[in-house]
Amino acid sequence: MLKGKTALVTGSTSGIGLAIARAMAEAGVDVMLNGFGDGAEIEKERSGLEKEFGIKARYSGADMTKPDEIAAMVADTEKEFGKLDILVNNAGIQQVANIEDFPVEKWDAVIAINLSSSFHTIRAAVPGMKKRKWGRIINIASAHGLVASGQKAAYVAAKHGLVGLTKVAAIENANDGITCNAICPGWVLTPLVAKQIKARAKESGQTFDEAKVALVSEKQPMHDFTKPENIGALAVFLAGDAAASITGSAYSIDGGWTAQ
Ligand code: NAD
Repeated sequence: MLKGKTALVTGSTSGIGLAIARAMAEAGVDVMLNGFGDGAEIEKERSGLEKEFGIKARYSGADMTKPDEIAAMVADTEKEFGKLDILVNNAGIQQVANIEDFPVEKWDAVIAINLSSSFHTIRAAVPGMKKRKWGRIINIASAHGLVASGQKAAYVAAKHGLVGLTKVAAIENANDGITCNAICPGWVLTPLVAKQIKARAKESGQTFDEAKVALVSEKQPMHDFTKPENIGALAVFLAGDAAASITGSAYSIDGGWTAQ
């Protein structure tokens, strides 16, 4: 169904972004990877996608805090693949502290990576999508785009902002064949969350496994993590024809977190 389409997935060297890139590749989509990490590992992943799924995969090391690098990454994707059809804004970081203790430079970094980078990618990608009358923009927000938790001021502000940006992009492009939706995951066991579990285990004297169960059951009626590949499957669905009239929505995939 998506064979011949092209996708750019920001922050796809790890966790959810990598699972989305794999799901897109499995659906026949050429993929531009992005994110930080060990060069050899990234190259192994890139060439592995090409071999496993018979698609074209490229890599951009653009830093999502740098608007000029973001614009160049979108331009490179269009040059490499001839077009950019599916934009997945996924790159994100976390910082946990009370507002009065929140390091100012961390506030700026979380807002830049988790929110502003999506403004920069969308503004660069939309003109080409409009010209071709087809585009899918998928923003990886969070349950924290819909509800708040303490100690996550920058993350919650950025993710609420991203859900708002999703709605604006949906409205502005509603009659140009372009949809824009947000995915709002609950807990997904990736390096971003493993770091938080380790910190909680250290603070509470629990083992990693005990802290893991405590973390997930504190927020979610379903005491289980969402699998990254299930988020990949949802992204592929939102990119497909069946989702042509779904736009401006925020899809929860959160074990019931925001149903409460
Ligand atoms: P992760 O730490 O495994 O992956 C983050 C990715 O972003 C990596 O590829 C990293 O290299 C990249 N990245 C970080 N800073 C970057 C920068 N300046 N420029 C370019 N790339 C950068 O995290 P994850 O859990 O897979 O998170 C992915 C997204 O999903 C994030 O937006 C996160 O907020 C969101 N999310 C995660 C969870 C969860 O429970 N893990 C829940 C809800 C939402």
